[in-house]
Amino acid sequence: MKHIVILGAGSAGVMFANRLRREVSESEVEITIIERKEMHFYQPAYTLIVFGLEEPENLMRPTKDLFYDGINLIIDEATKIDAEKSTISTAKNGDISYDYLVIATGAKFNFDEPEGMKEGLEKAENVHTFYTFEGALKLREALNNFEGGTIISSVAEMPIKCPAAPMKFIMMAEDMMREKGIRNKCKFIFTITLPAVFSREPYVGKLNSLFKAKGIEAIPNFAPSQVDYNNGVLKDYSGKELKFDLLSIVPPHEGDQVVENAEGVGNPAGYVACDKNHMYSLNYKNIYSIGDATDFPTSKTASGARKQAKVLVDRVKSILKGEEPKATYDGEIICPMLTRNKRVLFAHFNYTESLSPAIESYMNWVLKVHMLRPMYWNLMLKGLM
Ligand SMILES: Cc1cc2nc3c(=O)[nH]c(=O)nc-3n(C[C@H](O)[C@H](O)[C@H](O)COP(=O)(O)OP(=O)(O)OC[C@H]3O[C@@H](n4cnc5c(N)ncnc54)[C@H](O)[C@@H]3O)c2cc1C
Repeated sequence: MKHIVILGAGSAGVMFANRLRREVSESEVEITIIERKEMHFYQPAYTLIVFGLEEPENLMRPTKDLFYDGINLIIDEATKIDAEKSTISTAKNGDISYDYLVIATGAKFNFDEPEGMKEGLEKAENVHTFYTFEGALKLREALNNFEGGTIISSVAEMPIKCPAAPMKFIMMAEDMMREKGIRNKCKFIFTITLPAVFSREPYVGKLNSLFKAKGIEAIPNFAPSQVDYNNGVLKDYSGKELKFDLLSIVPPHEGDQVVENAEGVGNPAGYVACDKNHMYSLNYKNIYSIGDATDFPTSKTASGARKQAKVLVDRVKSILKGEEPKATYDGEIICPMLTRNKRVLFAHFNYTESLSPAIESYMNWVLKVHMLRPMYWNLMLKGLM
């Protein structure tokens, strides 16, 4: 019997573990999953919390309640990956050996840069991030109390989880202030470090025309260097300065320390260096990675993690049968963008091409705002879709 160890019970780890348990018997494979957190959060709805479209209690469930029987959950910190010996060290449970390792440790935030961001988030009323659960709740309150001024949505560094989210935020904030009747007292700015607001057509063209129609100023090639929260100024490395009354910033992301420290496995940013189609480590064929922990050249999304988990289960099933695995991941992801109240546009693409037109619709809104969260808890995490 083979032992598969999964590191991280976020979206990717849970989807993979449950799908594998459903499809492969306990006599063929033992499944162990290591996770440091007692509580699992549905991050894609943080944006909805900000605009009062979702309630916080719907977005969390105890990690222990997420799994089918026949999966060993260990709540612990993984401290070391020894790829040569095929073992994982943990803080409290000693060393655990594996035949196959699936790294699903996600991405974490680095609050140390830009200068002043961390202090601003901790102390100031005018600096926010909705990339954390607590931050989303705080920003909801700030927006409700906002009476006019400049709102900036800024991305500190790429890559980030769901690159559409900071754009959803600025478009929905503009819509909210319009509905509050104070649009004429407000200015809206979106900054990104890249040369364009999004990575590919037809979405770039559509977003540019939406921003223009809404009067949102888009500033590409803007790499924030300092958050001066006392004076309400966001500075970038080229010397540009933008005044704000409310700043929503996405902090830089990096992979987990345990991956960064794993020789031959992690890259300097802490992501797993792996084959973008076959998902195995470039150096160790018994180590795979899925979800935000990878260095795949596509957006870090739960939709991508779902696809990857599915493909990886197929690959593992072939390996267990002694066959050459054929299933591959083509980079497919779906990014829902709220463009205004009751309208959502889906950006759907893979490594090579866009797969859907750039159309905003009410049906997309119903799917994103009302259906995806129950589908996540009841179908996606259970490996049923
Ligand atoms: C604001 C926001 C909006 C988003 N919107 C969307 C959207 O609309 N659509 C979409 O598809 N995606 C969206 N996403 C992205 C989506 O949430 C992530 O891509 C997804 O959660 C990735 O899953 P993951 O399992 O790879 O990482 P995570 O869900 O982050 O899980 C990683 C897990 O690994 C654990 N871990 C890490 N290191 C260790 C260790 N050393 N020991 C033990 N445990 C460890 C962590 O505790 C964590 O639970 C959004 C994200 C945010 C923040």
